[in-house]
Amino acid sequence: MLILSTQQALSETFQPKVYRAPGRVNLIGEHTDYNQGFVMPAAIDFSTWVAIAPRQDRKLSIRSENFAEAVEIDLDQPATQGRGHWSDYPVGVAVKLEQSGHRLVGANMLVRGEVPIGSGLSSSAAIEVATGLALLENSDAKTDRVTLAKLCQQAENEFVGMRCGLMDQFVSCFGESGHALMLDCRGLDYHLLALPENVKLVVCNTMVKHDLANSEYNARRADCEEGVRLLSRKLPFVGSLRDITTGDLQRHKDQIPEVIGRRCRHVASENSRVLEAASALERSDLETFGQLMGESHRSLRDDYEVSCKELDLMVDLANQVEGVLGARMTGGGFGGCTINLVRSENVDSFKQFVAREYPEATGRNPEIYVCAAAQGAERAE
Ligand code: ADP
Ligand code: MG
Repeated sequence: MLILSTQQALSETFQPKVYRAPGRVNLIGEHTDYNQGFVMPAAIDFSTWVAIAPRQDRKLSIRSENFAEAVEIDLDQPATQGRGHWSDYPVGVAVKLEQSGHRLVGANMLVRGEVPIGSGLSSSAAIEVATGLALLENSDAKTDRVTLAKLCQQAENEFVGMRCGLMDQFVSCFGESGHALMLDCRGLDYHLLALPENVKLVVCNTMVKHDLANSEYNARRADCEEGVRLLSRKLPFVGSLRDITTGDLQRHKDQIPEVIGRRCRHVASENSRVLEAASALERSDLETFGQLMGESHRSLRDDYEVSCKELDLMVDLANQVEGVLGARMTGGGFGGCTINLVRSENVDSFKQFVAREYPEATGRNPEIYVCAAAQGAERAE
């Protein structure tokens, strides 16, 4: 009797709880989030899972099934910066939660990720948000989801050293199944857009990630900031590139170097494409939506210069297939994935075509995921 009830007490105390947060695919609105612009991502049905059980001390022991080396950290002696290790992401979230005033309870944690890692589908936001939810609930602490998303972003910006915008963490928190999320990154207002049932979100992984991805991302952010600084001398209302139209740029192009001008033009034109794409989706005009995706890709390739030959090839291949309404790179660029809007009845032939042609041109086998728009982060039973 005594043994049984002790066992019961033990399992109630140490039974792990499991939390899930999804990756995302961005339909349109790339490199606009950190310019306070518009984005239209959807959470996808690939998630990262975090199992957590409390400990008596203030240590966090974190293992991931996707990486070999486990880590243990002491919450009372936190690092202030990452060390280039996979665990920087969950550790950074713990550090930011503590810095924001939450006193965390120590825990043993196990991570299992099914979001392809480093492929532009934001496995990083998925592990951050799942970790954040797990640590908060394990400590009986609460925060609203916007604050959670922002703390996760801060972890990535300040602890990992990657100056990402808020889109990924936001949609991992707020995604809804069957819907894309139209987010205004200035006020963080958002609304959900139902995705039509006769088309699929098909994601093609180029299986490359060029080394310069993170450094070039940060360099593009610096270009945008320089654009704001130069343009605001003539246009005092400009606080971010969100405030600029392509017309403004044309009129004031002598104020900025040519390269900076192209970076700004991408952001300005992309913001208007997202708005147009949202109204196209609302009236079920998928042809227009697809054309805007194509324009977005060309702008990212030529003006923002974040594509690469594998992404361009993947988009070119997609555009040769019947039933493909639109194709573009998705995520930060320099490798990773494309997003393709494909009529349901053409998905099989699309997959076959890409699976045959892409290896022929590159020697690499692509992974192709037919994604559903999924629910945001939650406790998983
Ligand atoms: P993306 O977000 O496009 O997948 P990033 O380079 O931004 O690529 O983030 C990938 C990093 O996030 C990994 O190198 C690792 O540090 C961390 N990460 C993501 N998923 C996991 C996981 N399942 N287990 C451990 N670390 C993970
Ligand atoms: Mg990432």
